[in-house]
Amino acid sequence: MSNNGIGEAAQTIGPGGVIGILGGGQLGRMAALAAARLGYRTHIFCPEADSPACQVTPLATIATYDDEAALTAFAAAVDVVTFEFENIPFATVDFLRDKVLLRPDAEVLRICQNRLREKDFCGRIGVPTTRYAEVVEPEALERVVRDLGRPCILKTAEMGYDGKGQVLIEPESDLAAAWAAVAGGADRRIPAIVEAFVDFQMEASVIIARSADGSCRSYPLVENRHKNHILDQTIVPARVAPKVVERAEAIARRMAEEIGLVGLLAIEMFISQDGEVLVNEMAPRPHNSGHWTLDACVTSQFEQQVRTAAGLPLGSCRPLGDAVMQNLLGDAAEDWLEILSEPGAKLHLYGKSEARPGRKMGHVTRLVRKG
Ligand code: AMP
Repeated sequence: MSNNGIGEAAQTIGPGGVIGILGGGQLGRMAALAAARLGYRTHIFCPEADSPACQVTPLATIATYDDEAALTAFAAAVDVVTFEFENIPFATVDFLRDKVLLRPDAEVLRICQNRLREKDFCGRIGVPTTRYAEVVEPEALERVVRDLGRPCILKTAEMGYDGKGQVLIEPESDLAAAWAAVAGGADRRIPAIVEAFVDFQMEASVIIARSADGSCRSYPLVENRHKNHILDQTIVPARVAPKVVERAEAIARRMAEEIGLVGLLAIEMFISQDGEVLVNEMAPRPHNSGHWTLDACVTSQFEQQVRTAAGLPLGSCRPLGDAVMQNLLGDAAEDWLEILSEPGAKLHLYGKSEARPGRKMGHVTRLVRKG
């Protein structure tokens, strides 16, 4: 595994420095706001003008991810590059890696871009996942499904998120139709994965930060509730036994160390009925299930991302209380006035003009009084 970043402990970028962010979505927006609070500038690189991140910082390069001239100029204009989503083409970070400091480094991104590589990585370091197998052609699907048993889930290995590019294979499902739906055609060959279905008691996640000197801090294990495969609510902390929390935190730490992380790693997990922790997927960046940290934690995940990118000491991950984060998807953001009238509700809107169904328009965090 790469240990890139660790030898660079001396590379501290002080306030006034410029943090480059690949991607212009809401995660980049909230990172740019956190950077500004610490006196940094951010420079966004993304293909869309007026994206959520570009609205909050004057420095932006609007170009496609394969525009080498634009990437070269971007690398020269910033002190460090981080990213706000993992589906940046690998060629883009590969092109940047010898031109500018990348935190996390390109190898971390490469693993997190592909479900098979993620699970193989977990297997190599002894972190449990559900049983899985690779499939690249429709003819192989029947054998793999027979081995893993039904129900199981067929997913594209790359570019899938929020349940996109995946189908549940039930006892009566037609395999040819399932393949055609995920691969985009009955005869198309694509890298895909089949996973044994986990009858979980809960979906949960841990976000861990690791700095360039190798120190780690993790946010508490949180409980995630999905609707239509999209995160709906995060409940802080997760309502599970202390030994499950310990196990999840140990897994997060092991993953961050073994992957050579300098930055944030968000790890989505299934907690099985008997309390076993299985890793589902990981993202090398702030995560929707960490938005509560903006209002209910000493250091937000976005500030922590800035700290890791700039080589600063990590902030405390101590929560200020229990909290519930509610995503505002599509039309739900129209209730902004009502939410603002509610004492204690902290509203965040992402500046997106078009509220398509299921689109993440904002979120609201409510602190929960104990006792
Ligand atoms: P993913 O894109 O892998 O996060 O999957 C989206 C959602 O599908 C998850 O949040 C789970 O609710 C469900 N899911 C994914 N994989 C599995 C699995 N192997 N077993 C059971 N449910 C799953």
